[in-house]
Amino acid sequence: MKGIFALFKGLWITLKHNVKNVAHNTFTVQYPDEKRDLPPRARWALRLQRHEDGLERCIACQLCAAICPSEAIYIEGGENPLDNPVSKGERYAAVWMWDAARCIYCGFCVEACPDEVIVMSDVYELATDSREKLIWDKDRLFVPPGVQPRQAWLGYYRRAEDLDGKPLEFPARLHEKEMEYARAKEEPKKFEEKKEFMFLEGEYEELIKKENRT
Ligand code: SF4
Ligand code: SF4
Repeated sequence: MKGIFALFKGLWITLKHNVKNVAHNTFTVQYPDEKRDLPPRARWALRLQRHEDGLERCIACQLCAAICPSEAIYIEGGENPLDNPVSKGERYAAVWMWDAARCIYCGFCVEACPDEVIVMSDVYELATDSREKLIWDKDRLFVPPGVQPRQAWLGYYRRAEDLDGKPLEFPARLHEKEMEYARAKEEPKKFEEKKEFMFLEGEYEELIKKENRT
């Protein structure tokens, strides 16, 4: 008797939800014909950025590979040819490989990169028919020349409204926010220790000057 009661209870719950969905015209998204817009901070496949002039931003420092908790990044550096430079550093990434199957999409590599090379995109359709195809090489990872670089780190997780296509004019403002954040969290020491790393070239000195004026 108890079993029959449970059966009808289950049928009633299913019927109730079906009627509700039909009444509200709620149907599932007809993927893959229809795709949902992802939130601005969706973190999917890695993409590597270029400078405005098309040169690769990566300088093969290996910080991203070092911090990656799942060893999903493999980089081999090469000497940058002076007559035909690939990046703006002494070295460039001759090999840059990312394993989409090993990646846990944590974003540590984005945070670690000193030159805003790595961004996490909204490319989520990663399924394929072989393990090898889940390993992306430079050709697939680098955005095409001409794609406007975007803010990749720090604010990426805290300022969704400043994302995508906006010029990089706000790091100073962003860093002020970082200082506020550090003060609010009473972590000035920690902030002091890492701020040289956090700032883009010249910005740290500018900020020190500004601080000395106030
Ligand atoms: S998102 Fe995380 S797991 Fe994926 S490559 Fe970057 S550091 Fe490694
Ligand atoms: S941390 Fe950035 S610059 Fe350094 S190797 Fe990785 S992508 Fe290139």
